[in-house]
Amino acid sequence: MRGAGADLADTLPGGFMRRSLSVSAVILLTALASASATAQTAASSWIVDNHGRTAGTMEVRRTRDSMIVRHIYTDRNRGGRVETRYALGPDGGVRGGEQRAVLPDGSAGPATERFEVVGDSVRFSFGTAPTATIARTASSIVGLRGGTPFEQAMVARTLLALPDRRGSMIAGGDLRASIIADTTFRTNGRVQRARLVMMQRGTTRNHQGVWLDEKGELLATDVQWFITVRRDVTALLPVFRAIELKWRAAQGEALAKTAVTATNTHIAIINGDVFDSEAGVLRPAQTVLVRGDRIVAVGAAETVTIPAGATIIDAKGKTVMPGMWDMHGHTQVGQQAGLGLTQLANGLTTVRDMAADMDVAVSIRDRERAGKLATPRLVLAGFIEGPLAWAGPTEAIARDEAEARAWVSKYAANGYKQIKLYNVVHPDLIPTIAAEAKKHGMLLSGHIPRGISIEAAVALGYDEIQHAAFLFSNFFPDSLYLPTMRAYSQVATAVAPTFDVNSAGMTKLLDFLKARGTAIDGTFNLWIGGGGAIVGAGGSTNQMKADSAYMQLIRRLYAHGIPLIAGTDNSSGSTFRRELEMYEMAGIPAPRVLQIATIDAARFMKDAADYGSISVGKVADLIIVNGKPSEKISELAKIETVLRAGRRYDVDTLRARLNR
Ligand SMILES: [Zn+2]
Repeated sequence: MRGAGADLADTLPGGFMRRSLSVSAVILLTALASASATAQTAASSWIVDNHGRTAGTMEVRRTRDSMIVRHIYTDRNRGGRVETRYALGPDGGVRGGEQRAVLPDGSAGPATERFEVVGDSVRFSFGTAPTATIARTASSIVGLRGGTPFEQAMVARTLLALPDRRGSMIAGGDLRASIIADTTFRTNGRVQRARLVMMQRGTTRNHQGVWLDEKGELLATDVQWFITVRRDVTALLPVFRAIELKWRAAQGEALAKTAVTATNTHIAIINGDVFDSEAGVLRPAQTVLVRGDRIVAVGAAETVTIPAGATIIDAKGKTVMPGMWDMHGHTQVGQQAGLGLTQLANGLTTVRDMAADMDVAVSIRDRERAGKLATPRLVLAGFIEGPLAWAGPTEAIARDEAEARAWVSKYAANGYKQIKLYNVVHPDLIPTIAAEAKKHGMLLSGHIPRGISIEAAVALGYDEIQHAAFLFSNFFPDSLYLPTMRAYSQVATAVAPTFDVNSAGMTKLLDFLKARGTAIDGTFNLWIGGGGAIVGAGGSTNQMKADSAYMQLIRRLYAHGIPLIAGTDNSSGSTFRRELEMYEMAGIPAPRVLQIATIDAARFMKDAADYGSISVGKVADLIIVNGKPSEKISELAKIETVLRAGRRYDVDTLRARLNR
């Protein structure tokens, strides 16, 4: 959606323009001209905010015949480095645009996207794809599909000027804008206007928002980990945030009402083959009776009395199993829109969040538990990071023992079950954090902070490690620094193809982890296969060699009896089944894989009294699969129905609700 405004290019001098162009094009050109003209002033320079810390900037430079936008910010070892350029005509109108990456030396890389206006059509190209030409219509928005927040604001401004506030990006799909808030604020002694404009692409549920000032220029982007905001209004971010989160909350609750399938107080699932996750076996032709949010009976049909008026779900030939746990999720504001529905549709009834903004995560957790949201139940781990430029996207920075304790206590007070440490936490703070976490009965896990080994982190109190790649980078400690600070993932990617997983060193590490009962949240779906490769086949390419190494690692972890924790590291759960398929491919029997995704996760989080198996008294978190996942994990592609605390979600309905 980060594209330039409608008909940017069609800016021939004076009268001609007025004769051939639609009203909206005229509006856009004027707005663009004014925007770029003022971009020179201080008021129009933007910073990229990372939870109160400045992570980067957005600058606009304009000359008589060009405009250049640069949006650069640091996000760990990555971040945005984008430049967009526009050719302007003598009347200030845009003739064309292109997008480039900004290289480490500050120069601009080759164009990754380009468009040029040629009469009533536009020529555009993406990457290496051949140039295409498309005719413009009155509502087409000509601009870059990628771009920066500057372009985002331009598209929003353009849509507001179009009839019905609808337009279509050249080669980018339909867009619709709506003004969610229109308010004023005082800055620099004068009253200014601020509008929150939400843009919706096509019929999807995802809304992307921008705050615009009275001239339609960017004030701030919407709630995300990194927010681009005009330098002089950073103090307004909390106000903007409150307004947006309130709106998204209402959207989420309205959506939940349409996503759930009504049932009676009692639900009877009959004739289904129940996967007994505690025993790891299938019990054929059972009846499961649910009342409200709890399972009240499970057994052979003749042993369960179904009350009159119960909602009946016939699961003949289908598998009824506990809902699954994505143990490595990241909660975004979009969880209340499409992401939560997608997670449910993937059979996830619980998600353990491993880093999110506290206000967003706590609000979604609590409203879901109150039955107001159609998302999985959330179990929260509190993210803590150290104070360096490489610090991850969080407000929870611990510079000393006092701050570290304060964050652990704050998380504990908000019902968090775990603490997760990140890349640049000072190792000397780990004992303090471990002691405080234990005091609150919380688990401790994380990335392995720079400067220490896995063995040291576990000795200092870690119960679990995030990301299997650390089991490789652990053997190359200096590589994490020399010649520049490098992410563990880069090191692991470099060494994995040649790594000897059967080495004595790895055996010693696995023996150590086994002895300490340390669990591994491997997120293998991140490291294996780049999605496409034939996993585990070995072969010539580095990726295939790395795949084999990771598959062998899964095998060795399992053979050592080291607990495997299944997670995606994303917000939709889209790769959860793939994570489980890799465990199966590595030789772990399918029933055992299902146990990892259900009862093992519940036990690890000390939640097995209420979750993780289909047993009398437990919360009715279960899924109905039109297949045999306890024989083949890929059968989890056939999930039909999900019960979350007795609330019924049919997957067809969930998928339909993803689009308005
Ligand atoms: Zn993560």
